[in-house]
Amino acid sequence: MLKHFKSQSLRKQISAAGILGIVITVILSIISIFSYKSLKNTQEQEAKQYLNEVVSQYRNAIDIKIDGNLQTLRALSTFIEKSGDIGLVQILEQLRAESRQNDFLRMGYIMSDGTGYFIDTDGTEHYDIDVGDESFIQRALTGEDTVSDTLTDIFSGETVNCYSVPVYLDGAVTGALTATTSSTAFSSIIEQKLFGGNAYTHIIRSNGDYVVRSSHAVIQKDIKNIFDDGKVSPEDRAYIEKSAKSGQSSFSTFEYKNEKYWTTIFPIGINDWNLFCVVPQDYLSENFGTLMTVFIVIMLCITALFSVLFLYIYHIIKRSRQEITKLAYTDVLTGSDNRNKFILEMQRLLSDNRNYAMVLLNINGFKFVNEFYGYEAGNMLLKHIATVLADNIGEQELCYRDNADQFGMLLRCRRKKELAERLRSIQEQIHKFRLSRNQDYHILCNFGVMIIDEGSKSAVNTDFDTVMNGALLALESVKGNEMDSIAFYDRHLHEKAARKTEIENRMWNAVENHEFIMYLQPKFSLKTGLLHSAEALVRWQPGDGKMIYPDEFIPIFEQNGFITKLDMYMLEEACRCLADWDKRGFPAVPIAVNQSRIFFYDTEYLNKLEEIVRFYAVNPSLIILEVTETVAMNNLEQIKTVIARLHSMGFKVSMDDFGSGYSSLNTLRELHVDEIKLDREFLSFQTESGRDEAIIRNVIHLANDLSASTVAEGIETEQQLEFLKSLSCDIGQGYYFCRPVPAADFFRAVAKLK
Ligand code: C2E
Ligand code: MG
Ligand code: MG
Repeated sequence: MLKHFKSQSLRKQISAAGILGIVITVILSIISIFSYKSLKNTQEQEAKQYLNEVVSQYRNAIDIKIDGNLQTLRALSTFIEKSGDIGLVQILEQLRAESRQNDFLRMGYIMSDGTGYFIDTDGTEHYDIDVGDESFIQRALTGEDTVSDTLTDIFSGETVNCYSVPVYLDGAVTGALTATTSSTAFSSIIEQKLFGGNAYTHIIRSNGDYVVRSSHAVIQKDIKNIFDDGKVSPEDRAYIEKSAKSGQSSFSTFEYKNEKYWTTIFPIGINDWNLFCVVPQDYLSENFGTLMTVFIVIMLCITALFSVLFLYIYHIIKRSRQEITKLAYTDVLTGSDNRNKFILEMQRLLSDNRNYAMVLLNINGFKFVNEFYGYEAGNMLLKHIATVLADNIGEQELCYRDNADQFGMLLRCRRKKELAERLRSIQEQIHKFRLSRNQDYHILCNFGVMIIDEGSKSAVNTDFDTVMNGALLALESVKGNEMDSIAFYDRHLHEKAARKTEIENRMWNAVENHEFIMYLQPKFSLKTGLLHSAEALVRWQPGDGKMIYPDEFIPIFEQNGFITKLDMYMLEEACRCLADWDKRGFPAVPIAVNQSRIFFYDTEYLNKLEEIVRFYAVNPSLIILEVTETVAMNNLEQIKTVIARLHSMGFKVSMDDFGSGYSSLNTLRELHVDEIKLDREFLSFQTESGRDEAIIRNVIHLANDLSASTVAEGIETEQQLEFLKSLSCDIGQGYYFCRPVPAADFFRAVAKLK
């Protein structure tokens, strides 16, 4: 689930980043296209403007030239007109004089019938030449100032342009003056270098005929019209023609011999002449190309920068994801996998058909380790366990830290015995860890195991919770058990757990309803045979059911803390009983009350005790407080203080079940108890083991030295009684004398014994 979620969100992030990348690329592309277009447009505009400016300068130059030449002729015409009716001879005389002062190739006078008289610059004269067919002459004779198209000179064969103005007499045209100039006069203007010599200017008529051709051979020399070789597309041609005829300047493109040109058409204002200027687009594009290259390089740099930034951010996201994943799946302290990781991996492993075992491991007394050796040592221990587990798992096996001092493993399991062997070996390796150089505290662990074989796979759901609960139940059943540290899950544990829940559900009401009943079991002096005291033992008698014995509920109450409530209740019952006996004149028999170890850590405990005995006006010396020896294990100094206070209050203290745990005789020496109760296990083995006998003898001996009396509990046979007597044990308790009886029946039961 977690993995699925992880990969889904990673996929989401990557696709979001991808979309962002695409969006940025698209935006950059749009900016590029837009910039390219606007640059191209600007460049085109600039070219257009430049062409226009240049061509209009040409036009002015041509204009000035033409106007100058016409002015010269006009001045001469006016002079002739003013001279009155002068004859041809005089006119020619004037022309001879005039032709020496200007750079015309020839000057001439045309009679109204079209007969021409010409005088060349070199003095050659041509008379009676019929030029009446020339249209510019015809137009001059009608009163117009004219300039001819480019013509081939009839005398020299040169290409020339001719000017003509009418000559008047008394308001009527009597003839026309002409002047001839070489066409080079125009071409020298239009052949000035433009755009580094790449642009060419021609003077054309509106139908496309050349008037003056630039000497540059952009267009084949023998072609008379710009459209003649048919390389211009019909659309271009139509546009150029339209522009040329419109008498307005225009800008366009055309393609000629596979090369593209910018063209401008600019009317000169004389005849239907236009300046026709062409520039190869490639030439202008060269600069544009450089500009574009710079632009593209900048764009590529920006894209590359974005890409690097994008990759960097992606890298950071990936790294932080890895960190988060690591944190999500790793136990920070030990570095081993955590529960999340374990659940994921476990599901994968359980899907094949091998048999596995879910093992939970818990350290016995870890709280004590932390309190006594410090948290640093506790952490070292946890790390040590993590290392041991990691060293002990094989291929297709798992281990993890669950929480606090609990670890888990998923181990291959062929046979239970084999698995138990492995766990014992792990226990052994953990056991080797030393918390401190000076002290030899043995680390013990408990293991709860749930076997997951084919049978259980099909019978129960093998999800983590089921498997974990099974192993946990098994673990609970051995928690704190130092002798038998491995437990396997079975149905019985399940029933026990159910029973535990039932007990916990009912315990509060049980107190209210007085279902807890005090039974008393007498203790006798082994020397005199007289009644010495009694032990209060709780029985749970539910109103509607079978009696429940303490072995079943006391461990549960100890776990959930309810034991303190019960113990106070029992103490009160004992006090009430003593007060009752006193009132009824029965002898004052001391009552031993079992006390939970939890009390010894409760600061209010002593006050509560005092309150109760005071309330029932009971002499505290009639109360013996029985505590199990394990209470002394953890915090000796505190226990000593509490025992001293109890003594000062008048209570007696008995050490119960001595010899069942890790009791040390030294501990006994430290604690000033009034009574030592030997664990009944000693008696059950006493017949077979000489070793137990030695221990009992020593304990009794030590107790004598410490002025504490010795009590043997669980005496069932005469043989046991005789044995204890032989060892000079002081007091005896057991079924041999009497079973525990309800307090009300106590004296009757004791009396029966005599
Ligand atoms: P314990 O304090 O060691 O109590 C002695 C147990 O030995 C009692 O079991 C008693 O019935 C049993 N016993 C006595 N004579 C014989 C005998 O000859 N043979 C055998 N086999 N057993 C004998 P019981 O009453 O079942 O209590 C079990 C334990 O529950 C007690 O062990 C004590 O640790 C605890 N307990 C009982 N009542 C209380 C209580 O009110 N408060 C606390 N904290 N613990 C209690
Ligand atoms: Mg007891
Ligand atoms: Mg006992």
